[in-house]
Amino acid sequence: MNHPTKSDNSFTPANNIAMEATKNQQAAKTQVGDIMAPEFLVDEPPPKPNYPHYRVRPGEPIVLADIDPDTAEHYKKKKNIEKELEKQRDRLTDLQRRLYAENKRSLLIVLQAMDTGGKDGTIKNVFQGVNPQGCRVWSFKKPSDEEASHDFLWRYHQRTPQRGMINIFNRSHYEDVLVVRVKQLVPEEVWRERYQTINQFEQMLTLNNITVIKFFLHISKDEQKQRLESRLENPNKRWKFSSNDIKERLLWDDYQTAFEDAINNCSTAYAPWYVVPANKKWYRDLVIARAIADTLEAMNPQYPAVEQGLENITIPD
Ligand code: AMP
Ligand code: MG
Repeated sequence: MNHPTKSDNSFTPANNIAMEATKNQQAAKTQVGDIMAPEFLVDEPPPKPNYPHYRVRPGEPIVLADIDPDTAEHYKKKKNIEKELEKQRDRLTDLQRRLYAENKRSLLIVLQAMDTGGKDGTIKNVFQGVNPQGCRVWSFKKPSDEEASHDFLWRYHQRTPQRGMINIFNRSHYEDVLVVRVKQLVPEEVWRERYQTINQFEQMLTLNNITVIKFFLHISKDEQKQRLESRLENPNKRWKFSSNDIKERLLWDDYQTAFEDAINNCSTAYAPWYVVPANKKWYRDLVIARAIADTLEAMNPQYPAVEQGLENITIPD
């Protein structure tokens, strides 16, 4: 991945993302246990926004400190993208309807971020046009006693999408190599082997017709300070403030390292990570909406065949 950095705001041509999700599934089928990015040709102009630019490609590790959380390409203001975001939401509405009707495959969206990174806002802004019946959001907190007495993937596996569904993980199995690592809740040899276990888990899901797509909402430390301050100041946001957020903030660098390792170890051909610049909420929403809509479009869900002879039916009085 060629990220825009603070000094370099140029964008490389996007890879052609058409059929990418389908190819991802093929990738999982052909490379059992192996990780390799499928190649996409670069002879088409990049999509707008250029979300493929933020995809982390296996073998091309990223450095979070080199990725500018403030970038928004050429977009200047929220109002410049409102129509475009609406268009992407409409695509999502239509594609989700088809996925649900087809009832064969499903989509799992993983959202991770530092505290205040915008996971809740993304869900609200990107999915507001989607039929609630075809979409489920699962938020993961500290495991319960029962959850903690199973293998670490147990609680997540139960929440993966059934056929036809879009499930969103607001936090996810990645917490088990993030907070668990930073807070030393298990020894290093335990969390370190989890990268491979996670890759195998996601590969198994992909083989079972669940497309997996993962977003890290990348904010700066300054932006987090401002967002925490606004939670303290604004009575409508105060409920979101937790003094634990301050303790976590002191571990900012440790979390950045843990995120970097998780993303670099677990961005696979079949279940990619995207590092989304997220200081500007509206740009973050647009990037994620388009990435998801394109992923669904590449899956190309189809309405089931209709019954034969419908043209001869009259509805009795
Ligand atoms: P929030 O999303 O703000 O409600 O916070 C949820 C809290 O649960 C965060 O502090 C997470 O770090 C914590 N959490 C989520 N998953 C795990 C896990 N697997 N182990 C320990 N803590 C977790
Ligand atoms: Mg919180």
